[in-house]
Amino acid sequence: MMNLNNLYQAPAVNRKRYGDTVVTMLSDGYLDVSFELLNGIEANKAEAILEKRGVEPLPRINVNVFVVQTAGRTILVDSGAGGINGWGGRLNSALLAAGFDPLDIDTVLLTHAHPDHAGGLAGALATPLFQNVQELYVHEKELAFWRDDMIYSSASDGFKPFFGLARNAFDAYDDKLVPFSNEAILPGIQAVPLFGHTPGHTGYLVGDEKDSLLIWGDIVHFPHLQMAHPEVTIAFDSDPSEASKVRAALLDRVATDQLSISGMHFNLPASGKIHREHNNYVLNYDAWSPAV
Ligand SMILES: [Zn+2]
Repeated sequence: MMNLNNLYQAPAVNRKRYGDTVVTMLSDGYLDVSFELLNGIEANKAEAILEKRGVEPLPRINVNVFVVQTAGRTILVDSGAGGINGWGGRLNSALLAAGFDPLDIDTVLLTHAHPDHAGGLAGALATPLFQNVQELYVHEKELAFWRDDMIYSSASDGFKPFFGLARNAFDAYDDKLVPFSNEAILPGIQAVPLFGHTPGHTGYLVGDEKDSLLIWGDIVHFPHLQMAHPEVTIAFDSDPSEASKVRAALLDRVATDQLSISGMHFNLPASGKIHREHNNYVLNYDAWSPAV
């Protein structure tokens, strides 16, 4: 009989089509932090906003991963946290539940190299976990930041392990790395520079002109909180004021264009749209559909 303590959600899989592109949204699990990491909002106010939006009032950050199938490629967008520090680590079971073998993945796009995004890419000693990957795309500014020995040596002791993890992931795919600075990176995929959260933080726009999805990385860590208060930043932001400026500008653009969006820290592996409400924004998740 199923053990009802320690019960994990069944693998979460949500598939949608954008033009000729199929996007499979997967959950890697979550990590628990503290509202203390947020700047610009008190914990009790944060809890009240989450409760109002029907989300558990916990400082819990969900971690999502995306598989994009387009132009003959099977592309993993980020890799979740890989179970490091007990964070996430459900990607493989989600991939299998969605009908993917890790060997199907031939391309990786990284939004940035924080542990909850690059943690699932490599095992110890720079061992690649996706062995058929031919190309790993990362913005050249992101790669340069994590591989910079001067920046590393001046980083705090608490931050240094982030470098170790990012370097291990990059080293695992060293001859597969494709550092880019242009926006047209692959057929049907456009890189969208969204620097601020990290120096090379990048979103990816997939699909075609009529029907597209912007996977925007870490524009929000707490979607409902940071739509209501785009000025709220998190301790992981490398340039908090730039991160909040980029968030505010992107929310405005996405709400105006009614562009479909998804993110690594949405409350579930889902897409959604943003609507204006009073002076700010609300996120409405798209309904799940059994048809793709
Ligand atoms: Zn993140």
